[in-house]
Amino acid sequence: MKNIIVEIPEWAYEFHGHKCPAMPIGYRAGLTAMAKLGVEKASNKELYLICENGPAHAAACFLDGVMSSTGCTYGKGNVEKLNYGKNAITLVDLKTKKAVRVSMRPEFFEKALNSEFVQLRKQNVHPNDIKPEILTPLIENVKKADENMIFTVSEIFENNVQLPKGTFDWHNCSKCNEIVFDNASKIIDGKVMCQPCAAKII
Ligand SMILES: [Zn+2]
Ligand SMILES: [Zn+2]
Repeated sequence: MKNIIVEIPEWAYEFHGHKCPAMPIGYRAGLTAMAKLGVEKASNKELYLICENGPAHAAACFLDGVMSSTGCTYGKGNVEKLNYGKNAITLVDLKTKKAVRVSMRPEFFEKALNSEFVQLRKQNVHPNDIKPEILTPLIENVKKADENMIFTVSEIFENNVQLPKGTFDWHNCSKCNEIVFDNASKIIDGKVMCQPCAAKII
């Protein structure tokens, strides 16, 4: 894997909103997991992502990178965030039930967390205000680092996660008239309501 440069598409930075090293690391984590499973980016809900990061910490931008490369997104509903405060993912191929866990190596992560970029972020400097001289080498390093230096990759294991079936059934809320999907609506005194309206009534 040496001397291979993994390009991070410009649209991924646009989606994320700024340039930083953590989003590209997440992008690569997704690529590494997909390669291990022998799958491609999910065009629909072929894959399921369980991310251990969050709720709010340095390098949490990682998740946007993973979503970008795997196609597992909150809109499709095939992402779950565990809020363990760890930059690690489990990616599941929903067809074969095969899964792999990819986690950041502590040595690589420590270096990143001790970087000037993170020190400036700690002082609340906006990522866009951090000089390219500081930021660019970090991103270039993520692009060219051997994946075994960045990640620990598990053996393949079985995961039986089930995606909830999406509904096409909907109602007009009897109070606010807005459309609410069946699997999230409430029935109060025989009337269908959205949850906010139901909460105000109970
Ligand atoms: Zn970021
Ligand atoms: Zn309502």
